[in-house]
Amino acid sequence: MTEKVLHANIPVFVPHKGCPHRCSFCDQRAISGTQRAPSPGEVTALCREALAGLPPRFGTAEIAFFGGSFTAIPREEMIALLEAAQPFRGDPRFGGIRISTRPDAIDGEILQILENYGVQAIELGAQSLYNRVLEANGRGHTGEDVRRAAGLVREKGFSLGLQMMTGLYQSSPEMDWNTGLGLAALEPDTVRIYPTVVFPWTELARRMESGEYQPPGLDETVELCARLLGMFEERGIRVIRLGLHNENGTAQRALGGCFHPALGELCRGRLFLERLLRRLEAEGKEGTPEVLVPPRLLSQAAGQGKRNLAELRRRWPGLTIRAGAGIEEDFLILYRNEERKDDQGGVVCG
Ligand code: SF4
Repeated sequence: MTEKVLHANIPVFVPHKGCPHRCSFCDQRAISGTQRAPSPGEVTALCREALAGLPPRFGTAEIAFFGGSFTAIPREEMIALLEAAQPFRGDPRFGGIRISTRPDAIDGEILQILENYGVQAIELGAQSLYNRVLEANGRGHTGEDVRRAAGLVREKGFSLGLQMMTGLYQSSPEMDWNTGLGLAALEPDTVRIYPTVVFPWTELARRMESGEYQPPGLDETVELCARLLGMFEERGIRVIRLGLHNENGTAQRALGGCFHPALGELCRGRLFLERLLRRLEAEGKEGTPEVLVPPRLLSQAAGQGKRNLAELRRRWPGLTIRAGAGIEEDFLILYRNEERKDDQGGVVCG
């Protein structure tokens, strides 16, 4: 079996660099734990060190400028940061440059500069496609800006990433779902989904303290994000992040909102449960179901803390979930007394 080659990120945080103002939810210093953007010399040193120490299981490493509005950084400073990465172009371990920025800081001229400096992937902070939500959260751009910028990025042949948030002030699960559908229609290569987390000293913290804003809870968020995840993946769009990383004490700093260190796992488990429920209901067979899954999907199928298993057993007492070798689909359902096609043992869950 050929071993999967992984690709690493060399994150370079430029907290709030280029941001024209502070959005209602944002504290990049709290999220990234970085107080200031590195100098170009520091960027070069960071990349050199990261590439030299790249573990063999990683084929390449990509430099990722995150945490600010990269293309709104004063032009000379932005170019100096891009220059700092140029010595590595041509190195077989160097996977290119990724940047994240605001949709209203994209135009033909800036894209030409990014192309000249070897940028391959551009992520746009869309957050919502509803102007009312964008305005209420101080974004300073419109849904139309997102559509226009995404079109330009794709036209120029960059890899397009879109970031969205759920649970923002003045939004609703239905609006977040529609935003997801609208973003999918822009055909991004990748998506990141960030449920809102409330950090101290932000506008959202003030609104939450005054009672004007109540962020959605974990169950509601998992339900919505699982649907979004399924919808994007059905369309061949990779969801490369679900929820903030639990680095730099994010959990301790958060005042409210939906933060869970294993949010992605919770959502994948929920998605698996919904697909299993749909299949079991559609088959409507007599007998006790036995669900066979490939070993890599066993914990997803059982759900965190075996919550899926518990839920399924409420409807089908005695149901088991079992890892079996040679299962090609995500799951296979047998019913007690049905002839077993897989009888090679395996890890039984529950
Ligand atoms: S959300 Fe983006 S544009 Fe807004 S303050 Fe944060 S980094 Fe800047």
